[in-house]
Amino acid sequence: SYNLPPSDLNQKIRVCVRKRPLNRKEVDKGEKDISPCLGTRSLHINEPKLRLDMSRYIEQHSFTFDDVFNFDTPNVNVYQRTALPLVNYIFKGGKATCFAYGQTGSGKTFTMLDPKHGLYIMAANDIFSLLRQPEHQHLSAWIGLYEIYQGHLYDLLNNRKKLYAREDGKQNVVISGLKEYPIDNVDKLIQVFDYGNQIRTTGSTGANDSSSRSHAVLQVLLKPKKNKKKIHGKMSFIDLAGSERGADRGDADTKTRMEGAEINKSLLALKECIRALDQDKRHTPFRQSKLTQVLKDSFVGNSRTCMIATISPGGTNSEHTLNTLRYADRVK
Ligand code: ADP
Ligand code: MG
Repeated sequence: SYNLPPSDLNQKIRVCVRKRPLNRKEVDKGEKDISPCLGTRSLHINEPKLRLDMSRYIEQHSFTFDDVFNFDTPNVNVYQRTALPLVNYIFKGGKATCFAYGQTGSGKTFTMLDPKHGLYIMAANDIFSLLRQPEHQHLSAWIGLYEIYQGHLYDLLNNRKKLYAREDGKQNVVISGLKEYPIDNVDKLIQVFDYGNQIRTTGSTGANDSSSRSHAVLQVLLKPKKNKKKIHGKMSFIDLAGSERGADRGDADTKTRMEGAEINKSLLALKECIRALDQDKRHTPFRQSKLTQVLKDSFVGNSRTCMIATISPGGTNSEHTLNTLRYADRVK
């Protein structure tokens, strides 16, 4: 099983794993990469365990995904096998969602929303050049950026204004009052995104790790120039809240515990919704969380989803890494 054939890029759902490199601190502490990638689709995790007699043994788990990106895989290669097929899909009139899921510090933001390396930059480059082609002259791109925190929506391009989602009766979810900007070049996109992202990372409380406690959604809508109410295609880039939150983490105060519970609820709902999509189920439980509710149109009709589970390589993170791999494994 080490040499699995490459997976189909046009599947309705793709689940990929990306491992970041060991960082300086981890190297200094002598940490080792415990999750060898075997070929391009499978991966082992060697979880070191301490037995009662204090002799170490290793528990090994194997997983297979649509793609496994090793620590040295450049973003452009990740892009080609994750977001690029989705970009082409939205021009054909579809709805697409690309998620980064994983523990805080595993590379979600780096993968999805980093202003230098992020998939959104590469996708935007392609979107803007496709828009310049004659057959797409009638379309333009509109950008919105919001955050989901504690089950509420906040507009990151409008001073964290609280927003409400509703349905328009045509299976579209509309976030009333969300600021949307027509953008046709990457420089402008970066400028607008940076502005919103600054609001996200500092948050209303000024705490600088708030980005790991909320889901950030960058939404790109393709609309006909002559009818801005109509949506031709839609793509969402989602940097999910850190998956390590939750009761088992022993969160100290009530606020952190509530945050953890809400995050767990939404990540669980997300998994259920993607599974329902994969199995073409009639009933999709998107009402179980705000996250899945605003993504409803991505779970019905013409939709494609790509999840990138990001993992840390070091042994001290093995439990979180295993949890992430199990989650990703169960999505499909
Ligand atoms: P998260 O958003 O999941 O909390 P980050 O994206 O902030 O994690 O990544 C944590 C750190 O690791 C950052 O300094 C980031 O630059 C670095 N990093 C993450 N993924 C990679 C990668 N694939 N290659 C190089 N550095 C990475
Ligand atoms: Mg982050």
